[in-house]
Amino acid sequence: MKVDLSGTSELSILVSPNGQMLAVSEAMLPLLAYVEPLLSDLVQAANSVDVFLNGLQYAVQRQLLWQAPGVPFGLLITFRQPAPEPLVDHRLGEMALTLSSKLEMNHVLEHVVRFAMDLLDADAGALPVYDPDHDRLLPGHLVNLPVDLVAPAKGPRRGLMWQIIEQGKSILIPDYAAHPMALPELARIGVSSLLATPIMHGKTPLGILAVYRLRNEPFQESDRDLLQAIAHQTAIALQSARMYQRAIRNADERYTLYQASIEIGATLDLEQLYQAIHRAVDRLISHAGFAIALLNDQQIVEYVYLVTPAGRQPGLQLPLTHGIAGYVLRFGVSLRLSGAHALPAPAIQPALEVEGDLDQRSLLATPLVVGDRIIGALLAWHDHLDAYTMSDLSALEMLAATVAVALHNALRFTHIQSLAITDTLTELVNRRHFLQNLQHEIDRSRRYQTPVSIAMIDIDHFKQVNDSYGHLAGDHILRELAQRCRQHLRDVDILARYGGEEFGLILPETPYHAALLAAERLRQTVMATPFLVDGQQITLTLSIGVATFQSISHPDPSSLIADADRALYLAKRRGRNRVCGAQEFSTYAEP
Ligand code: GH3
Ligand code: MG
Ligand code: MG
Repeated sequence: MKVDLSGTSELSILVSPNGQMLAVSEAMLPLLAYVEPLLSDLVQAANSVDVFLNGLQYAVQRQLLWQAPGVPFGLLITFRQPAPEPLVDHRLGEMALTLSSKLEMNHVLEHVVRFAMDLLDADAGALPVYDPDHDRLLPGHLVNLPVDLVAPAKGPRRGLMWQIIEQGKSILIPDYAAHPMALPELARIGVSSLLATPIMHGKTPLGILAVYRLRNEPFQESDRDLLQAIAHQTAIALQSARMYQRAIRNADERYTLYQASIEIGATLDLEQLYQAIHRAVDRLISHAGFAIALLNDQQIVEYVYLVTPAGRQPGLQLPLTHGIAGYVLRFGVSLRLSGAHALPAPAIQPALEVEGDLDQRSLLATPLVVGDRIIGALLAWHDHLDAYTMSDLSALEMLAATVAVALHNALRFTHIQSLAITDTLTELVNRRHFLQNLQHEIDRSRRYQTPVSIAMIDIDHFKQVNDSYGHLAGDHILRELAQRCRQHLRDVDILARYGGEEFGLILPETPYHAALLAAERLRQTVMATPFLVDGQQITLTLSIGVATFQSISHPDPSSLIADADRALYLAKRRGRNRVCGAQEFSTYAEP
């Protein structure tokens, strides 16, 4: 029998039963001098022994080889250096234990980087985190490194870090500066060697664990296994931290939605409702702008609530074929956009509701659905790309589901309310509303000592219009006259159809003489432009009586109206087409 040890890389010696050396492996040769004195002991020793050769500890393994059954041929002695495994395993176990108690993502990242640097004797370390929602790398945690390590957060996926994510393999670069993909920033601060490995959860990359040496002592192949072992432990901790973050977020979201539903269910007032919805959106998703759009009976998209960084904007109206909300309303789908190129086809008309262009923005939009009807849409946008994840969209969708019915109810309520106060022919408010508001203005005038005036307006000889042109023509003129007067008044003024061809006007914060001037302006406006009926021009004139509230003379609204009526009667008596004031027959002083 012949034994050849030249092919083995092990530290082995073959010894005959009488203690003679029969063969020596090549790797063993340098240590031979240290072994020889120990040989006879080793042959006779009990089974497992450790020896020190040249100052290093080796475990000794022995295997008896047989020439024939019962006839020993020799003893194969192999020396193994105890692997560093037990120590590393122990420390890895410790790390896993520490990590399992850290659910806060930042703590996990910091701990892992410090641990890897410590174990691999590195001068710098990094743990960039992969964000699968946006397919991007975030800086994560960095030690002794500039922040832009991960380099392009936007734009093309370049650089060593992306290569690791895409290939799912670790890299060892012993001479960093000479590497073609080396980052100049890192070469400049003196990085000499890099070792990095992906952190994978199954096939999903979670991040990259990278360690750097600045001194001229590159990482070895054996370091790679160690870093991979740390990355493996880290994967579990990172995944738990991520799930924990989601759970917290979901719990927050549910609480916000619950609160919103309470707040929203408590009001039928549209403005209060819009604000409650806005508050809920504030808590759910970050945004630069937010809008509530509602589809009206004329199929116009009304932006009833629009906020930008500059604050609340005046309402906006767009046809259904325009804007993001129009698209959402027509197709009944939610949108999550990053940049204008993400607009669905057929391309939506420019996103008119969003300030500036969409190229550099992200946007979420979702329909408000009640039963099988889409009544409007919620929109939120952000002034940078990739701002929103699918879970942001589902948060907005959940809010939309919560508020849609509440909005629908409030809209119906407001509509019924407005029917009750609107005169159908002229679309002015009716007498009931006039009286309610007059009471309200008088109360305010008493409290704040501000003046309030009213005017009673009657069309002169209107009966003749009906007699000459018919009642329908009379109706038409009444409507046009009402709208014309409305246009010449301030928004705060209340013009009501008081009855027949008589109108009541409340002028808040207007003293007597200013009220006379306002009435005179109305009279002249109506007289100046004839009404057109069946190609005929009809000039109409008004008689107007003005009165100003006086707390002594006017204990209630009807006494103020009576004064204005008396002034109107005076105007008629004096020949019509004129304005008269209550001061002409009363001695009360102007407030
Ligand atoms: P003056 O006020 O200058 O004394 O004359 P007048 O002809 O306007 O007289 P009066 O105020 O007494 O008559 C009101 C007329 O207005 C009666 C009616 O024919 C007409 N009128 C009132 N309400 C309506 C309405 O809703 N539609 C139409 N077409 N006519 C109305
Ligand atoms: Mg009249
Ligand atoms: Mg009349």
